[in-house]
Amino acid sequence: MIQSVIVTKEAYDEMFKYVIEYANPNRPYRQWREVIGWLIGTIEGETATVLRAIPMTSGSSIFVEMSDYTIIPQIAEEANKIDAVIVGWFHSHPSFGFFLSSVDIRTQRNQQSLFENAIALVCDPTKISTIEPGIHGYQVFMDHSRGREYRELDISIDLETTYPAVLKELLLDAGIERSYSDVIAHEDLAALYALEGISPPHLAMAEIGDLLASEKNALPNVVAEYVISTSLQYKKENYVQVKISNIGDGIAYLVDLALPPNYEFEILSMYPRRIVDQLNYDSAILETFKIKPKKEGQIILPSIHVSYRTLDQRKYQVIISAMRVAVL
Ligand SMILES: [Zn+2]
Repeated sequence: MIQSVIVTKEAYDEMFKYVIEYANPNRPYRQWREVIGWLIGTIEGETATVLRAIPMTSGSSIFVEMSDYTIIPQIAEEANKIDAVIVGWFHSHPSFGFFLSSVDIRTQRNQQSLFENAIALVCDPTKISTIEPGIHGYQVFMDHSRGREYRELDISIDLETTYPAVLKELLLDAGIERSYSDVIAHEDLAALYALEGISPPHLAMAEIGDLLASEKNALPNVVAEYVISTSLQYKKENYVQVKISNIGDGIAYLVDLALPPNYEFEILSMYPRRIVDQLNYDSAILETFKIKPKKEGQIILPSIHVSYRTLDQRKYQVIISAMRVAVL
């Protein structure tokens, strides 16, 4: 289990350069966007050292999700070049601080399932001060016990100057002379959430008492399928995804699925069973599993039973059909 994280100056700069591009004092606050990317580095005992950060994609002002796991072999290759491995992922929370949202927890569960020691780093440049590096690190508990589902790691940044000095330099490099404190007010943040019609992220998990009457009576309708974009490689690590969408009007609680064992491939994911606390209407998630095919030609990915509950605890089930895929 990882206890501490060391971030090199190079990785720190790479992360904030990308974060600043999409959320900076020259850009209207309403247009700020979250960004996400991969971390490569080394693991020694209980310490992860982040050597490089690789940008991936940007999302909305308050939401970004890691959806493309087919890129993993490429990231692993990048890591290989510097004798490193994938150590996790980072994303930004521009102006709303350090925590893992329910989506972040799910992404991190995926990461820890694929890479045992994976860490999640959350960056917020607006919080940087002489004592605050603007980056916090987390891992989740994998036992699905209730209560707080993640823990914070000790973090140290390998810098020769202060955090604000580095931030100022990065802003200047991007042609930005104003500072974050010139543009951010707490009221803006409240207004943003009101405009988006959402509650702040730490409250994003809907409590039953908060639901509207129409939501309480609405029924979820979950559909699920395999999403395989390329052919699989024989005897290599491959990433197989299942997409679970709620196309109904109500919320699906405790969406539970497991990739069954199969003689045609080995399951390399540490946690082939996944539980998603809730899946709101009109939302979809991607769960990623790591497998190694034992034969060439074609293999059959087994059918998967996905169960979920409604608000009144009625249990429903949907089946992901078996799928034949090519193995090269
Ligand atoms: Zn987040």
